[in-house]
Amino acid sequence: MKKMSVEDKLGTNVFHTDEVNSHIDVDKAYPDKEEIMKVVLACPAACYTYENDTLSFSHLGCLECGTCRVLSHGKVVKDWNYPDGTRGVFYRQG
Ligand code: SF4
Repeated sequence: MKKMSVEDKLGTNVFHTDEVNSHIDVDKAYPDKEEIMKVVLACPAACYTYENDTLSFSHLGCLECGTCRVLSHGKVVKDWNYPDGTRGVFYRQG
């Protein structure tokens, strides 16, 4: 059996995402770039981007790892919850 790369494994995930309501509340106007870059650099799904001094966020590919919540201490990430009901990511490869 061929060994799968991390990217291949992530590609098998299935998302049942609530496209309207984000389960993470992000302060996109947070003034401290150092705090912003913590979540930008740490998110394994690249949900956060920072270009031209502007923070953007999309919850659509979120892996629900909670890293941004832990690093932010309520600063950039104001609120974090798991998606409602059967929404969110479904892992297929552990
Ligand atoms: S929970 Fe994890 S994957 Fe989702 S936005 Fe935060 S760091 Fe990214």
